[in-house]
Amino acid sequence: MATPMTAAQWRAALKAEGVKFTEYDSWTTRGRDAATGKSFGPVHGVLNHHTAGSNSLRAVAVDGAPNLPAPLAHTFLPKSGIAVLVSCHRANHAGLAAANVIAALTAETKLPRQDKTSTVDGNDLLYGIETENLGNGTDTYTREQYDAWVRWNAAICRHHGWGAGSVAGHLETSVEGKVDPKGPVEGYGTRGLFVFSMGQLRADVAERLQHPASWSPATSAPPTTEERLTSLEKRVTALEKK
Ligand SMILES: [Zn+2]
Repeated sequence: MATPMTAAQWRAALKAEGVKFTEYDSWTTRGRDAATGKSFGPVHGVLNHHTAGSNSLRAVAVDGAPNLPAPLAHTFLPKSGIAVLVSCHRANHAGLAAANVIAALTAETKLPRQDKTSTVDGNDLLYGIETENLGNGTDTYTREQYDAWVRWNAAICRHHGWGAGSVAGHLETSVEGKVDPKGPVEGYGTRGLFVFSMGQLRADVAERLQHPASWSPATSAPPTTEERLTSLEKRVTALEKK
């Protein structure tokens, strides 16, 4: 449990972790605290979502969804990988969460199956990010987007002194049948195309947290001109010997 990050702490944590971001108008004052009479926090963990749509920034920040006023998350992460901060207060993203999962998240132990008989309001307790993806199983998270996603989760965990065990997906906490986040990912580090899973996201966040915030994963960079020329020379030499 911890006190929610202030706007200044958000900026500092994300910048240190290498998250590129912009700030949506009034993000430091926008929230559901006054309207619900409930304040955000103490925070217990981080919750990840996919938008199930495209160009959802305005919906997440201002317009909301049917019967669900905005903000719908703290951050919107489009395919560009440049995050948009939309709120640092109470946001409507988590809905009802299973109390047993929240307890495990807080203790950073393996998340159990949701016991739907006892619930809490996840919006009181969890940071939330809406990552742009149609959620149709074929729409792909870009490499830049996934890299920023890992960094965003790690930045919050590092700020609070949490481990990757404080990171969850909506499908793990919800008692309302949510299935997000899911979908293919273009790649990360030296890994090519893979299918998103919360286990993999937590492993990637855990790997980041073993390094300083300034760390970047090794990538399978394309060969340099020099390497390509050397390779060409070898092939020419081999041909000449024939
Ligand atoms: Zn969700």
